Amino acid sequence: MNIILTHEQADFDAAGSVLAAWLLDPSRIPILPKRRNRNLAAFLDDYKTRLPFFTWKTLPKGSIDRIYITDTQTVEEHSRMSGIKDIIVWDHHPQRHLFPDRAENIYETTGACTTFLVEQLMDRPDLHPGRIYTTLMLMGIYEDTGSLSYGSTTPRDIRAAAWLVEKGADLDLMRRYILQPMTDHQQQGFDILMQSMEICEIMDEKIVTAAADIREISDEFSAVAHQMRDMLNPDGLILLLAVKTGIRIICRATTDDIDFGAMMRSMNGGGHIRAASGMIPVDYMETGNINDILEDARESVLHVLPNFIRPPWMNLKEKLEAQIPEKQLKLINLIAETAERLDTPLYIVGGVVRDLLQDQPVMDFDIVVEGDATRLGKELAAIHGGKLTLHPQFFTAKWETKEGVSLDLISARSETYSAPAALPTVAMSGIEPDLHRRDFTINTLAIRLDGEHYGELLDLCGGLSDLKNELIRTLHDHSFTDDPTRLFRAVRFEQRLNFDLESDTLRQMNDQMDGINLLTGQRIWHELRLYCDEDAPERNFSRIVRLGIAEKINRALSWNENTGTDCVRFRKTTPEKYWNYQSGLDFELVETEGPLWIWLSCHSAEIIAELGKRLLMPKKTQHCIKSLALLRKYFSGMIRQAPSEITFFLESLPVEPLYCYALFCPEAEKRTLKQYITGWHQIRPKTTGADLIEMGIKPGPQMKKLLTSLRAACIDTGLEEEEETEWIQSWQTVISSRESED
Ligand code: ATP
Repeated sequence: MNIILTHEQADFDAAGSVLAAWLLDPSRIPILPKRRNRNLAAFLDDYKTRLPFFTWKTLPKGSIDRIYITDTQTVEEHSRMSGIKDIIVWDHHPQRHLFPDRAENIYETTGACTTFLVEQLMDRPDLHPGRIYTTLMLMGIYEDTGSLSYGSTTPRDIRAAAWLVEKGADLDLMRRYILQPMTDHQQQGFDILMQSMEICEIMDEKIVTAAADIREISDEFSAVAHQMRDMLNPDGLILLLAVKTGIRIICRATTDDIDFGAMMRSMNGGGHIRAASGMIPVDYMETGNINDILEDARESVLHVLPNFIRPPWMNLKEKLEAQIPEKQLKLINLIAETAERLDTPLYIVGGVVRDLLQDQPVMDFDIVVEGDATRLGKELAAIHGGKLTLHPQFFTAKWETKEGVSLDLISARSETYSAPAALPTVAMSGIEPDLHRRDFTINTLAIRLDGEHYGELLDLCGGLSDLKNELIRTLHDHSFTDDPTRLFRAVRFEQRLNFDLESDTLRQMNDQMDGINLLTGQRIWHELRLYCDEDAPERNFSRIVRLGIAEKINRALSWNENTGTDCVRFRKTTPEKYWNYQSGLDFELVETEGPLWIWLSCHSAEIIAELGKRLLMPKKTQHCIKSLALLRKYFSGMIRQAPSEITFFLESLPVEPLYCYALFCPEAEKRTLKQYITGWHQIRPKTTGADLIEMGIKPGPQMKKLLTSLRAACIDTGLEEEEETEWIQSWQTVISSRESED
């Protein structure tokens, strides 16, 4: 099945172009978005039974093969679209290079998108669209050309309009919907706004602002905004209206390059890319002159606006060349050349692009192929040799060059979640669904690498603006339900980059936190371990406690600042050399889990045991955490005991927690640990069990006790070899006299 889509907040041009695309081939299913502008909604209400439109809800079941997009180059993501690569775009806005170039795409410079589709209808004398259809298409042309009066109107728009009138478009009917009269109050507000209007240019976008004090007028002003937008045809219109509770902001855009929805969300409001509103609260009793208040509001809105204007496209060629190590860059270029030859778009995606834009060093590369990565891998290996490992079930390939540099090649993929917290079902897809499946906007940036596109930044989800505004933002409302590990990831990026969790995202985290109950222990443990790779793991631990995430793992998980200090000391202490001679000490384990042990070992033995079970921790790790808990609890009180007692205690623990503890414990304890490791631990009596048998002592518990006491004497009193026999004899005398007393 083939479908036709258009932009949110659909207007007459959106609906007219969808209708025309359907008339050209009625096997395509025309879909309108849920959100339509006021005039279109009124028309659809009156004529819905006579129009062919569907919505996502009413769309019949069945797989979608091809998508036609009209009057826009971005449509709201829908789960049924995932994985579809066959997309054709018909738009009258400048090309934004969001989709692969193909011959069927049309980017015309007509005033309305409906125009060039109507032109195709004009070549089809067999078609007789009738009064309602032609009127709707005519309204599309009229609305986008200001009734054929804007400078952007072309002779083609006028010819298409004339043809529609010839074919029966009803101008009287059109006037009823396109020019809805304003009320007296709206007219009054409109006049004030027109007088205060200012025009400026920001990042090549024409922006009109206008302000009015309408505290005495109670009416709906979106109709006024609509009227002004139609009259002035700016790229963006911002109205600032003083109402009783503050300054109401109404924004309208005529292009998708300005994201007013995101801008208003950042100012306590909401809406969609082309139509949004918000409010700046004002206490008029406390603040001054109303004109000054409106001017301040205007300035602050214009100040943030550039963050929400999409640069036409940004080329990061120079950045790539400056920041990526030469060896890897060479390899990337080699792959890009091959990809171009195979006509396969190629991107670096995700964290690398984020780090590149933040001027951070970049190490690992996620190379995403819009097509079959295994095919690209095979071609590379055939031409340049090296070793290729294919994972066709995951659509990935690993290519290791003859020089030993290796890179993962991943096919662009869509993901769907069959149940909350389940692992996703993966299917090969275009780059767009691949970016939309990701966790946070800042991780959705991509740089294209093949051919003439080399260096082009692809920013489909507003990642660049969130990067600038230092915000962690999810891509949709149920992101944490789909994959609750993102709760841990959100904190990791928040703490690493020192960004804020965007307010909606924070709300979603709170609402969807129970998803953690559905995660397997291994997945949670993996996320917690990843915190240990961060510069300041303790900030992540304390944050997940404060956010209530940790209590979903175990209600008793807590945090206190002393633990934070211990983690900092652990990180900053250079281990003393003697630890290097501890054979079998798993340094890597302490490095990768140490901070986590420090945190978890602050809890009671019962809680540690519960955590071990819930997180399915490896046995060794559990043992280390329990041992570290014992050290923290008892060791400071032990250091004045006999060295042998300390030795026997420490010998009952694995060496890793000792090493870990030595990196953050107080100096006196550290000294004792050093004495144990470098001295006491090595001390053994020369007399062995065999020697004792020779001396007539029977093997058994008594002999074991003797040997232990003998070793204690060696450790505590420095007993020499030649003194050992005498010591054994006197020990035996003491024991036998004790036995006879008993
Ligand atoms: P880091 O610097 O920690 O490696 P990264 O952004 O490279 O950060 P990875 O875990 O290596 O993160 O993942 C690579 C990319 O895959 C991410 O940038 C993100 O786009 C995507 N990704 C990873 N995990 C998830 C997830 N749980 N949900 C959605 N997208 C994810």
